[in-house]
Amino acid sequence: MSCKIRTILFTVSCVSASVFAAPDHTLLIRQGYLLPMTVNGKDQPSTDILVRNNQIVKIGKNLVAPDAKVIDARGKYVMPGFVDAHNHLWVTTMRGQFRNKQGKFFPVSNKLAKGMQPYDIWQAMYTGSLELLQSGVTTTGDFFDNIRGPAWGDAGFRALQKSGIRAIMYYGGPDKTTKNMIDLAHLAELQKQSTDRIQLGLGWRIPRDLSSQQNWAMRDKEYRFAVQHKLPIQVHVSGDARAMFDALTDRQYLSTSLTVVHASDALPQQLNALQKAGGALVLTPISEQRVGYGLTLLNHFKSVEKQGLGLDGNALSGSANMFETLRTAALTDSGEAKDETLPDPRALLALATRRSAESIGLGNITGTLEEGKRADIQIINPNTLNMAGFGGGDPAALIVYSVQPENVETVIVDGQIIKADGKLQGVNLEEQLRAANASAKRLLEQSEL
Ligand SMILES: [Zn+2]
Repeated sequence: MSCKIRTILFTVSCVSASVFAAPDHTLLIRQGYLLPMTVNGKDQPSTDILVRNNQIVKIGKNLVAPDAKVIDARGKYVMPGFVDAHNHLWVTTMRGQFRNKQGKFFPVSNKLAKGMQPYDIWQAMYTGSLELLQSGVTTTGDFFDNIRGPAWGDAGFRALQKSGIRAIMYYGGPDKTTKNMIDLAHLAELQKQSTDRIQLGLGWRIPRDLSSQQNWAMRDKEYRFAVQHKLPIQVHVSGDARAMFDALTDRQYLSTSLTVVHASDALPQQLNALQKAGGALVLTPISEQRVGYGLTLLNHFKSVEKQGLGLDGNALSGSANMFETLRTAALTDSGEAKDETLPDPRALLALATRRSAESIGLGNITGTLEEGKRADIQIINPNTLNMAGFGGGDPAALIVYSVQPENVETVIVDGQIIKADGKLQGVNLEEQLRAANASAKRLLEQSEL
């Protein structure tokens, strides 16, 4: 398949047959130390995984598959790929811009957003997706809230597709003012093009002015459209989170279709209402603390079962590093509780894999190593200085507190090898970095920040 993204300034060709072709190979991951992340699932040392096409078909000892490509995982940790339940990949090319007094996140990103052409969207989202993949994240829930016209939406969709990542693209509005309606006709058009790997959702916002009946009528239309089209919905609840939460509850928007993001100072009864309605919650500890929403205390949110973790923008989180996200969450909880035994590192890994997948409705597909699930897998090589000196104990603690993205040696999405021997496959990284940096530079120059 090939595509062209047209802009005023550029034409980008994105031939990507290798990504779209159904994986037709068989993989045998040999003798790894498995952390399946299933409910109550035990670790399985020296165990094989057989992958056919895009599925895990067998997990066991000494599996035989003469036709398989063998991946030697002896002495390595084999885990499900991370699920980043909430991101804004279009912000990737604003790295280093949110410098506290010199420029806050919302005004700076809003200003730069206006100058982005479809080409810039493509560069940001493709680069951001590659960064996720190289650090072991195999799925992202991307809240795309800079769709300034159909070409912008198309560019983001194609960028996600080309990267090979699994994603839900939550189709959002052209800006954060909530004055304009989301282009539902284009969303429906893209939904027709959605694939097993790239699905669509609604990136919904509720009115800035909660008393504006006119704005609510528009938002209601968007919400009903999503429910009717079986699209999952994400909504930010932050800033005046309590009033926003009450508005969602009073207007009966809490439902199994809805995932609330942040909910930073939500009251226990508000979280209980979300749980009762079957809704989900996504927390993004690094970005929440960076923009001053307060400390993200996992313990405060424990009443919501469907719960996941997200990065909320690779640039806002600094980098696409789910290990760092886990450490931040862990240190915030243990520091606040003055209890070094909190939280359980294994529960944290489950939050970033199985539970994150469930929080965005992909729990049947990804998030665990189980027969029948899609082969979304990361393999961590501990033969490095930062993981040296582990003589035994809980590997989950080693992974949460010591691993860096560069220790992720192999990444597989839907049975397709995306990263092997520490290198992204089929990517001209040098060229891509140059293009992303040039786009970022031009955005800055034209915005006169
Ligand atoms: Zn967000």
